[in-house]
Amino acid sequence: MLTLDFHPAGRHFLQIPGPSPVPDRILRAMSYPTIDHRGPEFGALGLKVLSGIQKIFKTTQPVIIYPASGTGAWEAALSNTLSPGDHVLMYETGHFATLWKKMAEALGLKPEFLGLPGIEGWRRGVQADMIEARLRDDKNHSIKAVCVVHNETSTGVTSNIAAVRKAIDAAGHPALLLVDTISGLASADYRHDEWGVDVTVSGSQKGLMLPPGISFNAVSQKAIEASKTAKLPRAFWGWGEIIEMNKTGYWPYTPNTNLLYALHESIEMILGEGLDNVFARHQRLAAACRAAVQAWGLEVQCADAAVYSPVLTGVMTPEGVDADVVRKVIYERFNMSLGAALGKMKGRMFRIGHLGEANDLTLMATLAGCEMGLKLAGIKLAGSGVTAAMESLATNEQQAPRLKKAS
Ligand SMILES: *Cc1c(COP(=O)(O)O)cnc(C)c1O
Repeated sequence: MLTLDFHPAGRHFLQIPGPSPVPDRILRAMSYPTIDHRGPEFGALGLKVLSGIQKIFKTTQPVIIYPASGTGAWEAALSNTLSPGDHVLMYETGHFATLWKKMAEALGLKPEFLGLPGIEGWRRGVQADMIEARLRDDKNHSIKAVCVVHNETSTGVTSNIAAVRKAIDAAGHPALLLVDTISGLASADYRHDEWGVDVTVSGSQKGLMLPPGISFNAVSQKAIEASKTAKLPRAFWGWGEIIEMNKTGYWPYTPNTNLLYALHESIEMILGEGLDNVFARHQRLAAACRAAVQAWGLEVQCADAAVYSPVLTGVMTPEGVDADVVRKVIYERFNMSLGAALGKMKGRMFRIGHLGEANDLTLMATLAGCEMGLKLAGIKLAGSGVTAAMESLATNEQQAPRLKKAS
């Protein structure tokens, strides 16, 4: 047993943008006994989660489920569709886009990193016109794939994937479109089929409200065709055998049975609330969170209102204030975890997660903790973010979820 020398009352506030808090319903579902992964009950569970997850990705095409973190599904997306030395166009939105590019290099691909210079690129979404211009220049179609991050978790920016699709089509370019929505799925609107995405990568521990440990590749027919000739080595990640066995609800290896119980519960919860209601709830909470940041007199990391993330908000600390010190004060005093700044932004911002099971009161508690913590850290605030957030929630009262009256 892990021993802490401090036992605070109440629960820990896990307000990082993933892992997100796991609802009790999901934790209970995970405690069902582990069953025979070749037995009849398992096949029924497998078929149920495989069809349920398609609705979350808004696809009728196969979704592959791996017993791995999101990073594994990144590797699967690249290694199934590409060959050694392939030229890929990747877009720098932040730290996660940078890590995916590093992986592409490690796998023997030749990534080209497009983006706005310096910090600017980390404050805005994917510039689809830059992708279009680059693809138009690529007359002999040497670029095999375009890779973008939908919800950049390091900054709180949600890029317009439909615009990227349009850019590729406008350039008349045959490159595959690979999208990371590890932190966007089930929190921010996402449409695998409608947006013509070839591989969508996602994970369990963010919008789906599950513990870390499973991840996904939603694929297109074009991606499956590409996988038949792609030459990067792959074995465990290979789609072919998994897709074949998934037809009857099974996997070629031992799947993560208890996390699949959790996924089943999560899908029930999300579809029960309704995907559009889930997205609206996230937008409403994100707007209230930004209202708080503005009232404090601090800056939201995302500099373009068209691409504010509904999943998390990046908060920049004033010049000369180390954001990690603020996070440490908040953690030690209020038992609340906030996201650290990553990569280029290190020490200059913190990230507030408002995803998954977040609601009005969890957000208000989180913002109260931030406001008290910022003051304790000696930062002069312009005003009360808590009051501003309550006002924002009240002005969006029409969209507020309500418990249904018993009939
Ligand atoms: C969390 C995250 C990852 C990494 O996923 P792991 O589960 O930590 O491997 C990659 N990309 C984005 C956008 C993420 O939010």
